Amino acid sequence: MSDTDQPLNEVIKPRLGVSACTIGEKVRFDGGHKQSEFLLKELAQWVTFVPFCPEVKAGLGVPRPAIRLASIDGQLRVIGSKKADLDVTDALVFASDELVEQASDLTGFVFCAKSPSCGMERVKVYLQSGDPLAQTQSGIFADKLMKCYPAMPCEETGRLNDQLLRESFLCRLFSYARWQTICQNGLTAAMLLDFHQRHKMLLMAHSERHYRQAGPMLSDLKAQPLTELAERYIQLVMDGLRVVATRKKHTNVLMHLQGYFKKNLEKVDKSALTEMILRYQQGLLPLTAPLEMLKHHLRHYPDSYLQLQYYFQPYPEALRVQSVI
Ligand code: SF4
Repeated sequence: MSDTDQPLNEVIKPRLGVSACTIGEKVRFDGGHKQSEFLLKELAQWVTFVPFCPEVKAGLGVPRPAIRLASIDGQLRVIGSKKADLDVTDALVFASDELVEQASDLTGFVFCAKSPSCGMERVKVYLQSGDPLAQTQSGIFADKLMKCYPAMPCEETGRLNDQLLRESFLCRLFSYARWQTICQNGLTAAMLLDFHQRHKMLLMAHSERHYRQAGPMLSDLKAQPLTELAERYIQLVMDGLRVVATRKKHTNVLMHLQGYFKKNLEKVDKSALTEMILRYQQGLLPLTAPLEMLKHHLRHYPDSYLQLQYYFQPYPEALRVQSVI
């Protein structure tokens, strides 16, 4: 199936890797969990969770002594928070390598924040004496996974409470799921171009810079092997979608879309659409208001390019982040 054959409202279920404790599994050092409301109450029905716990995989048991990152003789180690002579670095590195290999078919990953194994960023690093350093970094497993699969959409639970970051993650997750589907069907040059066509406005809403780079990248599909080009292309798209889409950027895209109707719409309808976009820009309306009006006009004046744009529905409607954008 080519990307063009996928209707906008067809939802592909991403395989979402998660730190097991974030979906309620009692695998933390104290036998508890760190359940995320967003994951369990909102996202669960739209994805298939694939839980990972690197510390359990490393054989550290539940419950187990708390551990933390430490800089010892210039090397990053994982030691006991209370027992500095407990060093579990080798077991954790080995387990993480195995889990990273098993993650190759995932669409994305949500990590548990602050963990020395799963934290995506800003995990504290200590001296052996227990004094904290200014330096922070990613947890051992998270670091390996993100380096092995740089295009894979990753986030951590705390950051997903930020509406703009959540919106960016959902766009990346479901776009990457669509990408995986066409790759599984045997990527062709035509499929790559279809995918690009359908994600143009979405990419523009997040990062005009990446949008402007993506087109030229695909201008000569014979200049290099398709698989290499595809790898560079999807990395660029995922980097672009990681940039948050603000009201200002959405307004630019909405104005751009409005231009497609300039020949068809009556003056009064054109003014109403412009006014709605401006009211959205001022924060008086949610994004869905001008989007619904554009969709309404699209039903009356069909345009094959616009009708295929995932900008209108980048991920399931029920997940739409309303409050900020
Ligand atoms: S290692 Fe990761 S999954 Fe396991 S308890 Fe710690 S944060 Fe949760």
